[in-house]
Amino acid sequence: MAPLDWLLSEMKTLTSSAPSEYAPRLPRQRPARDTGRVLVLNATYEPINVCSVRRAAILLLKEKAEMIERSDSELRSERQVLARPIVIRLRLYVNVPRDSSKRKITRRAVFARDGWACQYCGTRSSLTVDHVIPRSKGGLSTWENIVASCAPCNRRKADRLPAQINMHPRKSPRVPGPHVFITVATQKIPAAWLQWLPAEAA
Ligand SMILES: [Zn+2]
Repeated sequence: MAPLDWLLSEMKTLTSSAPSEYAPRLPRQRPARDTGRVLVLNATYEPINVCSVRRAAILLLKEKAEMIERSDSELRSERQVLARPIVIRLRLYVNVPRDSSKRKITRRAVFARDGWACQYCGTRSSLTVDHVIPRSKGGLSTWENIVASCAPCNRRKADRLPAQINMHPRKSPRVPGPHVFITVATQKIPAAWLQWLPAEAA
């Protein structure tokens, strides 16, 4: 499979296996068979994706990727032993679509982009998503028109335009960078990933 095909199929896997955005955010115990996630860097060392340990092992064994960070534990199959990967780098440059605007807008991704804070009052509780230009006034469901908002601000603003009620988002909403999707694809960012991610992802 060409690297780009692989990347796209892996992204599909990620979307479908992401925790339900409506599920309560309870501390969850990882099932014992969950082998965690691996950060994937492009040939340029730019972080581009997150994949399963199994997928990473296949890429390493096929020499499509190289090991950048490994853990002390090992993966064993009948014939091979491989250090468990934490960060891998693709040997061939993959042209990642810059256009994150095509990526699915989820509540978690909006919250992560907005720093898990209401964009009107700054509170971090009771977060919802708000259409800056209300849908009833023709506002679209795009990254540029959706912000994190606490429930009280959302109710107060209702279906009014920002200027009508003088409620403007603190930062004008934009399409998030790829690190936002990396952040939301995993329960917790492993310490070994941090040096490869932009500071705002930590
Ligand atoms: Zn608020």
